[in-house]
Amino acid sequence: MNLPKTIALVAHDNRKKDLVEWVGWNWKELIKHKIFCTGTTGKLVEETLSNKVLKDGNIKFDIIKLKSGPLGGDQQLGALIVEGKIDIFIFLWDPMQPQPHDVDVKALLRISALYNVPTACNRSTADYLISSSLMHQKYEPIIKDYSEYINRNV
Ligand code: PGA
Repeated sequence: MNLPKTIALVAHDNRKKDLVEWVGWNWKELIKHKIFCTGTTGKLVEETLSNKVLKDGNIKFDIIKLKSGPLGGDQQLGALIVEGKIDIFIFLWDPMQPQPHDVDVKALLRISALYNVPTACNRSTADYLISSSLMHQKYEPIIKDYSEYINRNV
């Protein structure tokens, strides 16, 4: 895991306000890193960071917007995780409402667990992650050895 980190931010519609508020609180830390977002979340995060940096005097930040989640953005993000390109994942998913892309949400959570990516599904965990001393150190997540599975007899 290199410094700066690559942070993925995703929020379902009912959680977007929460995420925007969280980004507003943590913008000074976030702009030090590379950010990936699903489409609609990305627009809001970009807006929030732009307002903050403009007030502070023109600092640049690095944000990449994928497709909107229900249009394949979750799967794009899953692929980035598989490729080892995401260091931290903040995913405020909605525990109160089914989503049109629930299967993608499940797949994304599965793949982040499989690749041992630090993943926050609520604001307090996101607070713990962003304030961790590991944010500014090299950190290699340990990936379980799947060689037995890969070399199984079929
Ligand atoms: P969105 O997607 O940011 O485009 O709304 C979020 C999601 O993954 O559902």
